[in-house]
Amino acid sequence: MRVADLPLPAAVRDHLANRGIDELYPPQAAAVEAGVCDGERLVVAVPTASGKTLIAQLALLTADGPGLYIVPLRALAREKYEEFAALPGVSVGISTGDLADPEEELAGNDVVVATSEKVDSAIRNGAGWVESPACVVVDEVHLLGSENRGPTLEVTLATLRRRTPDVQIVGLSATVANPGAIADWLDADLVADDWRPVDLQIGIHADGQVRFEDGTTRPVPVPDAEPDADAATEATAALVSDAADEGGGALAFVRSRREAEALAERLCDAGLGTAADVAVDALEAGATSTGERLAACLRDGVAFHHAGLRSTHRRMVEAAFRARQVVAVCATPTLAAGVNVPARRVVIRDQKRFDGDQMGWLPVLEVHQMCGRAGRPGLDPYGEAVLVAGDETAADLRERYVGADPEAVESKLAERAALRTHVLSTLAAGFAASRSDLLDLFDATFYAYGSPVRDLVTTLDDALGDLDEMGMVDRSDGLAATPVGAQVSRQYLSPEGGAKVVDGLRTMAGIQPTTLTALELVCHTPDVRTGWLAGDERAAVYRFAREHASEFVREMGAVDAFEDWLTAVRTARMLTTLVDGADEDEVVDRFGIGPGDLESRIERARWLLGAAESLAAHLELDLPVLSATREAL
Ligand code: ADP
Repeated sequence: MRVADLPLPAAVRDHLANRGIDELYPPQAAAVEAGVCDGERLVVAVPTASGKTLIAQLALLTADGPGLYIVPLRALAREKYEEFAALPGVSVGISTGDLADPEEELAGNDVVVATSEKVDSAIRNGAGWVESPACVVVDEVHLLGSENRGPTLEVTLATLRRRTPDVQIVGLSATVANPGAIADWLDADLVADDWRPVDLQIGIHADGQVRFEDGTTRPVPVPDAEPDADAATEATAALVSDAADEGGGALAFVRSRREAEALAERLCDAGLGTAADVAVDALEAGATSTGERLAACLRDGVAFHHAGLRSTHRRMVEAAFRARQVVAVCATPTLAAGVNVPARRVVIRDQKRFDGDQMGWLPVLEVHQMCGRAGRPGLDPYGEAVLVAGDETAADLRERYVGADPEAVESKLAERAALRTHVLSTLAAGFAASRSDLLDLFDATFYAYGSPVRDLVTTLDDALGDLDEMGMVDRSDGLAATPVGAQVSRQYLSPEGGAKVVDGLRTMAGIQPTTLTALELVCHTPDVRTGWLAGDERAAVYRFAREHASEFVREMGAVDAFEDWLTAVRTARMLTTLVDGADEDEVVDRFGIGPGDLESRIERARWLLGAAESLAAHLELDLPVLSATREAL
């Protein structure tokens, strides 16, 4: 099927032709046949790089009204926005404001790109740009099964469908075990295909050679190393060097940030390549010790990539790798689900990761997504993904990951905290005014699709009981959010976070609050992730907490989860240092936090301080320290 025959504006067809897109890829043609240009609902489950973006464009540009493109991450929102912005004659907006900002100016665009959280928040706040889209494209719709993002996504889709019953929905999914269930839930047709534009071979490296699925082998001997060297790391270095010798870039996946940095530093000795001058110059402008280490690696043509890096540095690494200025990127598994960074060879050194308690196997889906990064369309004849057999045997790895089916996507909405949040937002937005309304709406979720009705009734009743106890809902006459509950939902706070803030604000009004008080208030909520404390640091934070006990809204001897509170104090202390005039680089080095982590905490604290301000106004409490802290942060 030819692009020239598609019902797109001529300028868009020309634009695509200029980028070498003349013939549709088979999954794209299947989507057109299934009616993607005629308003039909579809779930398209295909591998990475098989051209999902064009399917999204076909749906959104042929729809009879405004379109919404829902993506899981902000970095992806930017990538998709840029792809749409490049199309002639298409007006596109991107939602980048903080979570409580309705961004009314986005209405009127042909297409708006936003994360699922932003769409959820915009719906709660009655924003015009989510009012009645003609078409909604959901990128990475298999994330319905993710604990963090899944519940928001399914409730958002259920709400959008209820408000606009004939909305076209196009879900773009990775290859999962049950795409048919997702399609069925959405009343959509399924296009499932394992076609890829570049062949992918998955293999296992053991005993100095890679054995691929098709039985072929490639010798990749591992040179003798120091006696205490880690065998899997040495094998990874050999595999990366081998790819570089063939003229291809490599992505190496390891289990943690620290391992990503250590592996990159090890690869610097491998003599892989050229210096990425542009990137190094830019990095030197903002030097933290992490930035300096990254710059040092970049000089040797190597980089690391993880969430602790500043977002500008992450983008720089991605761009340098795409431009082939960097030969190897050592990354945590998060890169596999992020932006488009194809590589000639993917090496998966670690197949296990610490899951909070112990080392656990990575899901098959995640490993397949890493493998899917192998093979750059137009550049590589084929892509190779290699799992390194370290402590595991090759046979174990083969059975677990090669040729194995990925997991089925299952709803995580029954999780108590998630359900509470969404029950409150449904009531606060006025989408339900009774228990039966609520049941009716939640009956349209993916959770209800896969569970017996009585489970839904029980979990909803439990959530309502919790919300009542928190003072967020009123069950005296029908069912409604309390004024405080409504305010909490509009500010996009979790009900627990909101209850804690309300409680803390009342205490604050009775003491002499300082910047530290304001920051402790907002950091001690589930809405800010504060990590954990290592031994030495814990002692120092404990001392600090004792010295400043009179400034806190929580009484030190009476906090429930003391360790959580201490980590919140650590974050509050760190942010106070910034308010007092230290610059971000100083704080990063002094507190040993990743620059990217500091960046995200500042952003969260600003949003929560804003939310606390509006709650204080609602409670008629005069606490100017909240806005003063937010503005100084
Ligand atoms: P996905 O979202 O499925 O991972 P993309 O939509 O990003 O994949 O497409 C991967 C690459 O393939 C992009 O560089 C895109 O320009 C290119 N591409 C997509 N469709 C076609 C086509 N029909 N012909 C040639 N190139 C295409």
